[in-house]
Amino acid sequence: MSQDRFAIDGHKLYWHLDRVADWQKNRLIAPVYMEISPVSYCNHHCLFCGLDFAHNESVALDAGILMTRIEEMGRLGVKSIMFAGEGEPLLHPRMVEIAAHTKSCGIDVSITTNGMIGNAGIWEELLPSLTWVRFSIDAATSETYAKVHGISPGSFDRTITSLKEAVRIKRERDLPVTIGVQFLMIHQNLADIEPSLQLYSDICVDYLSFKPYSEHPQMINKSGFTYSASMIDSIEKSVQAFVNGSSAKTAIIFRKAATEAYNDGVQRFTSCCALPFWGYLSSKGDFYTCSVYLNDDRFMVGSIYTETMEEIFFGEKRKKSIAFAETNLEIGHECRVNCRMARINEFLAFLNDRPDHVNFI
Ligand code: SF4
Ligand code: SF4
Repeated sequence: MSQDRFAIDGHKLYWHLDRVADWQKNRLIAPVYMEISPVSYCNHHCLFCGLDFAHNESVALDAGILMTRIEEMGRLGVKSIMFAGEGEPLLHPRMVEIAAHTKSCGIDVSITTNGMIGNAGIWEELLPSLTWVRFSIDAATSETYAKVHGISPGSFDRTITSLKEAVRIKRERDLPVTIGVQFLMIHQNLADIEPSLQLYSDICVDYLSFKPYSEHPQMINKSGFTYSASMIDSIEKSVQAFVNGSSAKTAIIFRKAATEAYNDGVQRFTSCCALPFWGYLSSKGDFYTCSVYLNDDRFMVGSIYTETMEEIFFGEKRKKSIAFAETNLEIGHECRVNCRMARINEFLAFLNDRPDHVNFI
């Protein structure tokens, strides 16, 4: 059985075929999934941070307006929200309350965090609202963590303590939340891949996933890191050897498909049809049809401070932006290779390529 029971290395649009059918009929649909950036600032300085260009101003979303808009999102059909984005979501002073409110609106909630400021008190309050939480740790030792996250060496212990507290509380309260650890692979942390297998299995997280670096077009600190075929092979063998010899329950997910796709450097689809299915809310309250195009008017289609979600989702600006991405955007030149919607775009490209005689199933 695949270790990736969350389909992290794939996509899950198959389970939203009603929305896909509406899209096929050219209806303007509400997103299934949203990403929301509660703040623009972070307490870490990761070498690979795709949003390093966005950390200049200290901005936080107004919790009252945000919660009103989240209620509207739930009514209009948004199914899930991940809080992440430009900064560290746990730094928003009302994050716990916002997450609880989101869940009460019938929306699945998740958080991607560096986890460092988490503690028993925060996890006690936050975990019951979450479907999943992902700790971006990217290291197995204090030295590597300090180097890769641009932070003091003592910080690793703090993050590991926070992670262990989250796992303990989940277990003691029998909470259905999934707790994962993400390891973004770059030159500076490759030696930590093997020790991380044992470390995070011993902590009993639900999964440990290895993901490729991905360069954001606006990123300041570009490293141009790529993966050779032998490197991919060697990572896969290490992971497989560990999985075969371990009885740990932690799923180990090497995102090989994403790593290979990133390495190819070629988009496996020619136009972007994914924008109707997701959206991004920046820490300034601006709604974007794609998170890669922050500060780009072609993708910024409204503000939660001046418009309702109904006005934003079904407004002319969003319609125009979606049509632009489908027909005029030169994804090979402008887009982030292997962006978050890459697998969905491959699926939609397949659907658009209708063969003859479809009724002979
Ligand atoms: S923790 Fe996340 S937002 Fe903060 S610097 Fe690292 S990658 Fe960027
Ligand atoms: S293909 Fe381009 S526009 Fe579409 S989701 Fe990816 S980065 Fe955004």
